[in-house]
Amino acid sequence: MSTTIFKIDWKKGWLNFNKKAFNATDAMSLKRGKLAESKRTVVITGGSRGIGRAVCLRFAREDARIIFVHYDPDDLKANETLGILHKMDVEAKAKKLDISSFGAVEEFFQEVVREFQRVDVLVNNVGITGDAFLMRMSEDQWDEVLTVNLKGVFNCTKAVIRSMIKERSGRIINISSVVGQIGNIGQSNYAASKAGIIGFTKSVARELATRGITVNAVAPGFINTEMTEKLPDKARESFLAQIPMGRIGEPDEVAETVYWLASVSANYITGQVIHVNGGLYM
Ligand code: NAD
Repeated sequence: MSTTIFKIDWKKGWLNFNKKAFNATDAMSLKRGKLAESKRTVVITGGSRGIGRAVCLRFAREDARIIFVHYDPDDLKANETLGILHKMDVEAKAKKLDISSFGAVEEFFQEVVREFQRVDVLVNNVGITGDAFLMRMSEDQWDEVLTVNLKGVFNCTKAVIRSMIKERSGRIINISSVVGQIGNIGQSNYAASKAGIIGFTKSVARELATRGITVNAVAPGFINTEMTEKLPDKARESFLAQIPMGRIGEPDEVAETVYWLASVSANYITGQVIHVNGGLYM
């Protein structure tokens, strides 16, 4: 029997079309899962809800293996995301983990690599706010936002690159924010963390460019998630007035950009900041 076998070679970055005789050896390899090796392992931080959940669901459409991390007080949202992924018949796992803990993050990635051999894509999506005018901002407010948003990205990236370098392949996508570029009243801590992510992205992109690993950032504008739900109506209206497209963005629209950066179409793109903001900053 003759058939066309095609698979994406993520490492080399092209789609392989093999017209070949489907013989007994292939059938055995298929049985052992060898021909299914192109399934990617994708780790997404903050995947229980919002943009992180949308990113999980976007990679699920590729039938990637999804492992997401969250730190919600309860598992409600994480279980919801897992439920949707399992309904899509996707291999998925969730882990409650504080990404600001260097040791816990290192242990987590060691476990993932032990179980799945490698991580193909890391999406550093976790972000928190702790808003206050600088005059009133406490040291704790500053430390918490910087530790989760910026040190968290350092922790996860550092923990994943050893295996990516070994594989000479990998995609790292960091979620920054428009606020990291233009600033925002009451968000000096958040803006500093998101601007820091951009500097980090560019530096690590340079360090890893010859290792087959790309590192990029996505900077969303005003997106419809729990983070923006809590904004007072006045602040929401003033944000909306500044968006040329006149509407708030959807998590799916950010997820599409993240997915594209992890696809073969973005093979030659590294150290970039892609803005998804309806024109809010250009
Ligand atoms: P969200 O608040 O809806 O979800 C945050 C996720 O991060 C949750 O899964 C939560 O459990 C997880 N998390 C929080 N602290 C954690 C920790 N210490 N360790 C591990 N996980 C932790 O957020 P969102 O609105 O979906 O935003 C996602 C990312 O996009 C963030 O980095 C945010 O700064 C950025 N962003 C959002 C907007 C927006 O308008 N929503 C705009 C620009 C940038």
